[in-house]
Amino acid sequence: ATPTVTPTKRVLLAAPRGYCAGVDRAVVAVEKALETYGAPVYVRKEIVHNKHVVETLRERGAIFVNETDEVPQGARLVFSAHGVSPAVRDAAAARSLETIDATCPLVTKVHKEAVRFAADDYDILLIGHTGHEEVEGTAGEAPDHVQVVNSPDEVDQVVVRDPAKVVWISQTTLSVDETMETVRRLRERFPSLQDPPSDDICYATQNRQVAVKKLAPSCDVVIVVGSANSSNSVRLVEVALQAGARASYRVDRAAEIEDAWLENAATVGVTSGASVPEILVRDVIAHLGTHGFGEVEEVRTATEELMFSLPKELRSSLKAAG
Ligand code: SF4
Repeated sequence: ATPTVTPTKRVLLAAPRGYCAGVDRAVVAVEKALETYGAPVYVRKEIVHNKHVVETLRERGAIFVNETDEVPQGARLVFSAHGVSPAVRDAAAARSLETIDATCPLVTKVHKEAVRFAADDYDILLIGHTGHEEVEGTAGEAPDHVQVVNSPDEVDQVVVRDPAKVVWISQTTLSVDETMETVRRLRERFPSLQDPPSDDICYATQNRQVAVKKLAPSCDVVIVVGSANSSNSVRLVEVALQAGARASYRVDRAAEIEDAWLENAATVGVTSGASVPEILVRDVIAHLGTHGFGEVEEVRTATEELMFSLPKELRSSLKAAG
């Protein structure tokens, strides 16, 4: 009989993956706030879009709310990494809340662009997902000037006042390729369309997409660790499929991986969104190990060293506390 050769089952692990500088800063901000002021500390919306992170902070005494009116007068409130509109800041001030702003500096940068272009009376086309907190915050900086464009298919419906004075900006966590397609179609309609002064899709989103693109063509399955409401995680599944993975699934944790996904697979790719702690990826690797995927090879396309300092309100409290 001819001996059958079993192909080696292996894991290709994307790098960079997981926590970005903005998420790290936001999570540490809540942890430090709890340590410095004691529980409870209120947090508007999920500090970052990851179930595990939110549950862990909740156990430590963070109270997650949807809006400022759920927070007792004068209490301490953290704004999430996704940013808030001026209306939310005003509402917090009206309740005399002690706010800590954990908005990612790269989101704040996009807010400033919106403010600047609105002051120059541009029509601002914000490419992003309606209903996402970041888009609500950015659009809220200049509600009379901003319209949201969700996808290339929405380009035909865009109406502007003066086609010579139009600029696009974007959510930080989109698919780079799909965004460029939206911009291409917008420019067909508005040839004078201005670009934002620098990339709005952040370095972390871009790096994670580049890494998954590199490994996807060699993979039977790509598993993306991340929560359903995490925009950049959901985009990684799309990018993996477009780049040639035979299948791709998003899971919050290892237990959600279905055995059927791994049947007949020789190479499994693994990556994680920018809000995902590494422990969840380790659990996935361990789970795959028990299914015969013992060999793990890292596929690295960039090295990240960016770090942001903590929100200024916290820095001054920490300094005062010595
Ligand atoms: Fe900031 Fe990008 Fe991370 Fe969002 S994904 S928190 S914009 S670094």
